[in-house]
Amino acid sequence: MSLRLRIAVETPQHSGLAGALDYASDQALAPGTLVRVPLGRREVCGVVWDPADEPAPTDAGWAVKPVAAVLGGLPPLGPSWRRLVSFAAGYYQRGLGELALAVLPPELRLLDDAALERRRRRKRRAATAVEADRPPPLNPEQAAAVAAIASALSAGDGLATTQPPPLLLHGVTGSGKTEVYLHAAAQALAAGRQVLVLVPEINLTPQLTERLARRFADRRLVTLHSGLTPAQRLQHWLAAHTGEADLVLGTRLAIFASMPRLGLIVVDEEHDPSYKQQEGARYSARDLAVWRAQSERLPVVLGSATPSLETWQRADEGRYRRLTLAARVGAAALPRVRLVDWNQCPKPKGPPSAIAPPLLDALRLRLQRGEQSLLLLNRRGYAPVLHCTSCGWKSGCPHCSAWQVFHKAERVLRCHHCAAAARVPQACPQCGDLDLHAMGRGTERLEEQLAELLPGARIGRIDADSTRAKGELQARLQAVHAGEVDVLVGTQMVAKGHDFRRMTLVAAVNPDGALFSSDFRAPERLFALLMQAAGRAGRDAAMGPSEMWLQTWHPQHALYAALRDHDYPRFAATQLADRRSAGLPPFASLALLRADARDGAVAEAFLTEAGRQAEARAAEAGAALIAYPAVAPPISRVADTERRQLLLESPSRAALQHVLRAALPDWHALRSQHRGLARWAVDVDPLAI
Ligand code: ADP
Ligand code: ZN
Ligand code: ZN
Repeated sequence: MSLRLRIAVETPQHSGLAGALDYASDQALAPGTLVRVPLGRREVCGVVWDPADEPAPTDAGWAVKPVAAVLGGLPPLGPSWRRLVSFAAGYYQRGLGELALAVLPPELRLLDDAALERRRRRKRRAATAVEADRPPPLNPEQAAAVAAIASALSAGDGLATTQPPPLLLHGVTGSGKTEVYLHAAAQALAAGRQVLVLVPEINLTPQLTERLARRFADRRLVTLHSGLTPAQRLQHWLAAHTGEADLVLGTRLAIFASMPRLGLIVVDEEHDPSYKQQEGARYSARDLAVWRAQSERLPVVLGSATPSLETWQRADEGRYRRLTLAARVGAAALPRVRLVDWNQCPKPKGPPSAIAPPLLDALRLRLQRGEQSLLLLNRRGYAPVLHCTSCGWKSGCPHCSAWQVFHKAERVLRCHHCAAAARVPQACPQCGDLDLHAMGRGTERLEEQLAELLPGARIGRIDADSTRAKGELQARLQAVHAGEVDVLVGTQMVAKGHDFRRMTLVAAVNPDGALFSSDFRAPERLFALLMQAAGRAGRDAAMGPSEMWLQTWHPQHALYAALRDHDYPRFAATQLADRRSAGLPPFASLALLRADARDGAVAEAFLTEAGRQAEARAAEAGAALIAYPAVAPPISRVADTERRQLLLESPSRAALQHVLRAALPDWHALRSQHRGLARWAVDVDPLAI
């Protein structure tokens, strides 16, 4: 007798096939088993979703296709993994099979039982022996934090009926958060459990990888991130899935790791925007970590010096438990924050300088003392735009509503949105004038100017351009650690995680831009970036006092005042008050509908109708929802495609979810009525609007 199975199959994006499909099988297959099944004319991968407890209908009209192949050698994906994927697909409005297959390693599709068996027989190369370190004794705040996590650990063991709340570990950089993670991990491992540690970007946090490897030298640690080769990713994923790996360290995609003995989740730098996937299923790995921990009754630790306002608000409400590390470990003090007021600086005769005189003096002092400085400028390239002073021509991108950035060393103009590049023209393409000017300043130009201002100083630069070649980032970081660089110029890449021991000065060259951005999250991101950058200075108490400099036209701004006092709670309180009165997250739930088309009017028409349908669905259900008019985002054209977006807002997350679920089929149907629409997507809990 043939059995009916529900299988989540890899469906093309937006095929409208949201759930699992029916297939027939002669054998009963356990839920979570990987299979290959026919879909249309293709054969695709799928995951058995529901148990086969009913026979396939036999009447003639019922043509269920049979399962083509079974990957029986792989232990089935467990119920908690399937719950997580189900939840994420539903919440982020994607197909079940689409998401399930997207978060599994691609190489898994190519495996069959024979290949799996060969893999299993192959002996794993002995890991290179690392020297184990010894855990330092914890200070009282750290000990209290570890104890709180430990009690959540035992509560999660199925003995207690109460669910441990998520834990927010709030502490400035250097306050010993990582040490708390390591101790908590040791306890979970000792209890026979696996540990999942999420980081925003693995290449920018090599020290955490090393610390984990050293502390748990006798355990198997695997990494999961997009920098792995497909074969490595499969191998590491399998190690987690079979339980051979005790620790998984990974970026956002690792939240979907199958870990049968999972006992603890740590999300380091939980506020970091990298936790939000920006294409396909636009999930937040941080939010899913909280959901997964609740669903598996495990402790989750969200660590940050500048928590997201969503997390902070939940801690204020008592839904998360806040654990605070108030001071830096040892004698290391936080850097003193100094504001340079451009309004007070004498105007130079020539072109404006990147570095105000008092900051230049401070840099010279560091040079004399043999200490390092870091200059942060969040804009790569030489200058953001090339400009003709006689006719006003500017280096616009022919394909985007953006400028092509002037890259001097490479001699190209390059668009950072579509990557279109052109040689730098000798003369103005419009009037032929030879006098072209670089307007504004990027890291490449800052590096050049510093070389003039500080003769003899060794200047280094770390940004996406200077580290494109393989191994270049590691080499450049190594040079900084080895003391071969006096002044480091960098984008936000260098603000994260690095433990530069000889750095006593950090300066933000031009941070004002984000103060008046139209994006309501811009101040939150700026504050986090500056706090994090400040954390690069003064990590070693033996180096003496350290400083964080800010060059600004707005020295009175509340954000800078809070930063000067290292007062995140005050900053958060004012931001949350603003958000509350404006009805913005975390006091409202948002979803962004995006649509792309050659013709902006097509995208707009689709969105307008989709918004109307959403409002109709909301009215039906009596759910509070506002659909705002469709608008063009700040960069409205990219690679010759017009982008439009429409914001859906509701005071209730559940109401918004209800409307999205109800309207999704409407939107799939609507698409066919709008010829020329290139693509559309829903972004639930969007980061930038
Ligand atoms: P964070 O993760 O908050 O930046 P870390 O855990 O990296 O802080 O700690 C900062 C530095 O202090 C590290 O060099 C770490 O080894 C050291 N450290 C942390 N806790 C202790 C402790 N209890 N005793 C001694 N050194 C510690
Ligand atoms: Zn011109
Ligand atoms: Zn472009």
